[in-house]
Amino acid sequence: MLIGFQKQWQILKKMADMEKLPHALLFSGPDKVGKKTLALELAKFIFCQEKNRSGDLACGKCRACLDVEKKIHPDLAMILPEEGSIKIAQIRDLEWRLSLKPYSAKIKVGIIDDAHLMLPEAQNSLLKTLEEPKGKTLLILISSNPQMLLKTISSRVQTMKFFLASDTEIKEMLINLGADKTKAEKITKLSLGRPGQAIDFLKDPEKFSVREKILADIEKIIKAKIPEKFSYVKKITDIPESTNEILDLWERQLRDMLIANPKAPASFVQSIKNLEETVYLIKTTNVNQRLALENLMLNLNI
Ligand SMILES: [Zn+2]
Repeated sequence: MLIGFQKQWQILKKMADMEKLPHALLFSGPDKVGKKTLALELAKFIFCQEKNRSGDLACGKCRACLDVEKKIHPDLAMILPEEGSIKIAQIRDLEWRLSLKPYSAKIKVGIIDDAHLMLPEAQNSLLKTLEEPKGKTLLILISSNPQMLLKTISSRVQTMKFFLASDTEIKEMLINLGADKTKAEKITKLSLGRPGQAIDFLKDPEKFSVREKILADIEKIIKAKIPEKFSYVKKITDIPESTNEILDLWERQLRDMLIANPKAPASFVQSIKNLEETVYLIKTTNVNQRLALENLMLNLNI
């Protein structure tokens, strides 16, 4: 299941085979494109006990592979944000676990998911580990917003970039997983180039229908009057966890509309640019989301 990142995998596999993995890697790229999947696949590949495995991947069946899958492998330490951030105590705990001798593997692997959500003290603590790596460890930072990491951290990790998958790749993957053509096409459109998202939708029809509803709302709001647009902005910014996801769908929807209508007026193209700028601001700064989106709605000219 390596849709969209075969190249990255070949590089990592070669480094792992030659025991030339760096101390720290940063997997950067959009959410749900497979960064975490690949980090875990690499851990499996390093820990796998099946010596005579064939092919490019870990066996996926031995005890070590299964323990990574369940995230209980003793040589794997993984942390993710708690209540929206990664605290210094979590980093210290990770550092402590990595400092122990490997239990059954040759090296220990640490994974920090959503690494950009590390609080400043947590980043400073991690920096010390990056400056003086101890023992045989591999640290993998995963981030969709690497610009929020301290420069001193980014400069000490080897970055590997991930990109959105093409619609064709996602559609083929879904068909391989058993979806029929119509369903695969529908899911592909709403997955926005993210294979992980597409798999979620295939497995969980409820998640998919939530996403369909978001799209239906967008189609309605594009044509709505200002008061309705403003109450929509209030509604989507009241639940900050889903705001980015909704805005990504806005971008996709407007771009699809532009592709379907190549003779669209310049004001349409400008609206897309405004939307992209607003989304960028919202994702990377602490701009007042509601004001920024109300302003966008006022100038939306489609
Ligand atoms: Zn295995």
